[in-house]
Amino acid sequence: MEKEQVVIIGSGPAGLTAAMYTARAQLNPVVIAGPQLGGQISLTSEVENYPGFWSEDHVPTGPELVEVMQKQAEHFGARLVFDEVTEVDFSAGPPFRIKTYGKEYLAEGVVVTAGASPRHLGVPGEEEYIGRGVSYCGTCDGFFFRGKDVVVVGGGDSAMEESIFLTKFANKVEVIHRRDQLRAGAVLQKRAFANEKISFVWDSVVEEIVGNGVVQGVKVRNVKTGETSFRKTDGVFIFIGHYPNSKFLEGKLAMDEEGYVITDELYRTSVPGVYAAGEIQDAHFRQIATSVGQGAGAGMELEKWLAAQE
Ligand code: NAP
Repeated sequence: MEKEQVVIIGSGPAGLTAAMYTARAQLNPVVIAGPQLGGQISLTSEVENYPGFWSEDHVPTGPELVEVMQKQAEHFGARLVFDEVTEVDFSAGPPFRIKTYGKEYLAEGVVVTAGASPRHLGVPGEEEYIGRGVSYCGTCDGFFFRGKDVVVVGGGDSAMEESIFLTKFANKVEVIHRRDQLRAGAVLQKRAFANEKISFVWDSVVEEIVGNGVVQGVKVRNVKTGETSFRKTDGVFIFIGHYPNSKFLEGKLAMDEEGYVITDELYRTSVPGVYAAGEIQDAHFRQIATSVGQGAGAGMELEKWLAAQE
């Protein structure tokens, strides 16, 4: 059993920022990195909208930003542990108990920054063909579709950003969207419409992903006419939003009906001494910049709370 002042659950922008702030406050935080160091940004190709790193000659990649954030947090004393939290007990704390695959921690204060994961469509063939044509990450898998045809499902910023990225590899990117208008912001919409490799299938949903060992096509239904069709494709990239990684917190912290941890304006959860920041508690902004701000706020507030306990 390791006794710690601060344990941070998750290593995305919110977690690494909370780590940097609590480390600079001499709280010697441990960051339990979770399944993916850096969280979702480590899977992001180009980050154009995080201030301070951009230049005309060089747009930073997600992994580049993660590396800087990690180095900065470690420089000030944060310790990263490559492990995953399996169970927490906040009922009798502080100290709060946090179990990982490898260890058990007792922490005086906690910041939960476990983030969110891509939502699945839930149609036949989807789970079967993950890694064999079905993907939730263009940056990770785009390369495998060089010279091939892919479809993208979704009409938000992620779908447009990833569609544009996929045109670097694919011959043709067909966006299948359930309405006749995109949700994505104006800049991305404009770029997507101007890209000759991208076409749109409006008012349509994917009902099944079909293949024979690898993806061969999708069955699509037009929601207005009811007409169904089969579209040949080599890949299906799905960008239809996210869900919070909060299963391990069920019954431990107050959550909304979608599983997002409920926090107040000071990032306090329902348990005093346990704070939450980033996408685990924010279904609205979901930006690197906002997660960084939330992580800083949670770290500062935890520091104040710990000082008040002494
Ligand atoms: P999102 O904005 O929630 O968009 C999800 C898209 O998927 C919507 O177009 C939605 O359709 C569609 N969808 C949802 N469930 C579906 C289903 N079951 N079947 C078919 N389609 C479905 O998610 P996101 O694009 O991942 O973006 C999340 C947040 O991150 C947003 O706030 C976004 O602004 C932000 N983001 C920003 C950037 C950037 O600024 N560069 C990049 C990526 C993400 P409807 O439109 O009909 O609801």
